[in-house]
Amino acid sequence: MKKQTLVVATGNAHKLREIAQIFPEYEVVSQKQAGFFEEVEETGSTFIENALLKARAACAALGLPVLADDSGLCVEALEGAPGVYSARYSGTHGDDKSNRALLIKNMQGIADRSAYFACAVALACPDGREWTAEGKTYGRILSEEQGEGGFGYDPIFFSDDLKKSFGIATAEEKNTVSHRYRALCAIREKAGL
Ligand code: IMP
Repeated sequence: MKKQTLVVATGNAHKLREIAQIFPEYEVVSQKQAGFFEEVEETGSTFIENALLKARAACAALGLPVLADDSGLCVEALEGAPGVYSARYSGTHGDDKSNRALLIKNMQGIADRSAYFACAVALACPDGREWTAEGKTYGRILSEEQGEGGFGYDPIFFSDDLKKSFGIATAEEKNTVSHRYRALCAIREKAGL
């Protein structure tokens, strides 16, 4: 049987792959593949606000249900930074390598290295119905990179659940404990996806 299509409002190929792995029953497509090319500005001050902005804009343009993910890394000793600015922490949007280098530098000499990844997901439907959900995963910031897997801050995040960095973990391992997995399970439950 043909899989139902699920449009995801992201241009991030890594996120798209993870969402497709977590929702194997859907044919997960990006907003670009569905025909929406706009980069929605993330002006919200919370992950939920930004996820809703992205889902609503693509849903209104496409006339289809759209799922959006907004996520980031929150470091306790840095009062939650980089948080909603995770993708552009070092200045250039999406420069994962320099974002990691800056975080390692800013954590020098700090004993409390606890941190968590947070993910907010929003599903917007053309009939106006909306759902949101959040997921978190806890760990600590390493002083140097471990592994080359994943994306973003994965190589410097030591997962409490997996007892290894997300850079060393396989995609399957990360997808059993990640903030994204937990947020998607919650929205699946709420929205009956
Ligand atoms: P967004 O596109 O505004 O949601 O930005 C998310 C940013 O948070 C990414 O560019 C990464 O830097 C970081 N991030 C979110 N989720 C993950 C993850 O699963 N692993 C590593 N970094 C992540």
